[in-house]
Amino acid sequence: MPTDILIYIVLMAVAGVLNILLGVYAYNKREKFRGSKTFILICVFTSIYTFGHAFELASQELNVIVFWTYFQYIGIPYLAPLSLILVIQYTGLEKFLTKWNRRFLFFIPALTTCVVWTNHWHNQFYHTIFLKTEIYPMIQFVIGPWYIVHGSYTFGCMLAGGLILLHYWRQTKSTYWKQIFVLLLSIYLPLVSAFLYLLGYTPYGMDPVPVVMSLTSIMYIWAFLSTSLLELAPIARGLIFDSMRDGVLVLDSTLRIVDFNHAATKLIANLDDQSIGQEIHSLWKGIDSDRYFFPSIHHYNQKEEYELEWTGKHSSYQIRSTPVRKKTGVTVGSTIVIADVTEQKQLHNKLIHMAYMDGLTGILNRRAFLDKSVQLMEEHAKQDDICTMILFDIDYFKKINDTYGHHIGDEAILHVVSVCKQFLQPKDLFGRYGGEEFVICLPSANLIEGIEYAELLRVGIENTPLEMNHLSIPMTASFGVTEALRHIPIEEVLRNADLALYESKKQGRNVVHMAKDSKVILHANPRLLNK
Ligand code: GH3
Ligand code: MG
Ligand code: MG
Repeated sequence: MPTDILIYIVLMAVAGVLNILLGVYAYNKREKFRGSKTFILICVFTSIYTFGHAFELASQELNVIVFWTYFQYIGIPYLAPLSLILVIQYTGLEKFLTKWNRRFLFFIPALTTCVVWTNHWHNQFYHTIFLKTEIYPMIQFVIGPWYIVHGSYTFGCMLAGGLILLHYWRQTKSTYWKQIFVLLLSIYLPLVSAFLYLLGYTPYGMDPVPVVMSLTSIMYIWAFLSTSLLELAPIARGLIFDSMRDGVLVLDSTLRIVDFNHAATKLIANLDDQSIGQEIHSLWKGIDSDRYFFPSIHHYNQKEEYELEWTGKHSSYQIRSTPVRKKTGVTVGSTIVIADVTEQKQLHNKLIHMAYMDGLTGILNRRAFLDKSVQLMEEHAKQDDICTMILFDIDYFKKINDTYGHHIGDEAILHVVSVCKQFLQPKDLFGRYGGEEFVICLPSANLIEGIEYAELLRVGIENTPLEMNHLSIPMTASFGVTEALRHIPIEEVLRNADLALYESKKQGRNVVHMAKDSKVILHANPRLLNK
């Protein structure tokens, strides 16, 4: 036996063993990575191919050589579709691997195995097989039609896998190129060597594919140990990263940009491929801070997690910076996640609005008014300042409801609110106290000023009838005014105002009365007071 061939056989046997070991390794780590089953199958089928080829070369008689050649076809046809599946799993396109698609992929390979093992009946795979014994007994054959089917299918699968990888190569960050490169080599090297073999360019006309596959197996091992190939699916991760709705920036410990996703580029105008390696602050240079986000974040890493939120262009964003730590606990960088929380913010505002505002009129509801006026009174009491409370109730409102209907009644309530709003200052508190009863807290106003104010409102309501459906509905209201003095509980203040209001009703309505210390002390018509 020539030394070259002996070396080749030894090489083949080593490759076979290597593939078995690799399969065992992958089996032990099967929980850790996706596609482990595919990889194990590739190892098993490559071993069959490799050992079969080693035995084929080591055999001398035609029928034994033919047996070992057929034996290789228990493995060979499945390698290409399995490689394609591995690529699909690696690139996160698993959704295409349905049960039927898998069956479909293995249909032709299974047929190939059958055709090969029954070749002596129909000669569809090998048309003729003969022994060439010039240097060393080697099998020679004339190919049959199914050989072409098998060959085309194999090349087709490998090409598809290669193209998918090349496509994702462009989208993937350079960190993962080594892994894709190994996968690409493991597809293209056997492909090229198979071509060379078919074109007759290999020494002694030997099939170089098993040796090449053992080379790629070694590369797999290298990739396993150096880059944890398959322990993570980097492209799949990349895809998820890029399809996230939230913008993500990854920074190193010196605040330089290491990575970012597509969503981040939509949020930060200056962010592009050139930004990689640049300091994050460079992103804000020369941009209008009102239009773009976080122009001045500088607390990265200082807090474990923090939120910055603001509204602009009807959108709200939440930014969270989280340190990235090694297993040892050492901080090596940070991630910044920018989430669009516009919807949540709107919902939040709506809930706040519902909790504080009256549904019909949009002014403060009773609860919110009480809370806010207590706050206001306390603030003013600190400065030795007083507030004044005005309580008023629409006169004969039941009549409006009864005469025109509840709907017009609602309109009347809205009308009174809008009339009053014309006289109110932004700092005044205006609330709906009950059905058609309203309350106003005037900061920095004494009793006399409160009365004047109430009189303005009273005249305003009286002089502005509700014009609706060609109707003019006259409206009036009765008022009670009281000072909101220091240390008087709000309930008592309102009780005093209510007593004054009651007095106004009692005196014929459409008037203003004032109260003091829970006791009505003056029946005042400010129209007279003003004189
Ligand atoms: P008075 O001059 O003594 O205040 O007479 P009034 O008819 O206004 O009597 P009262 O204040 O007791 O009646 C209030 C009525 O307002 C009773 C209720 O049916 C009606 N009301 C309360 N809330 C609403 C509302 O949101 N919409 C409508 N349309 N009516 C309301
Ligand atoms: Mg009323
Ligand atoms: Mg009432």
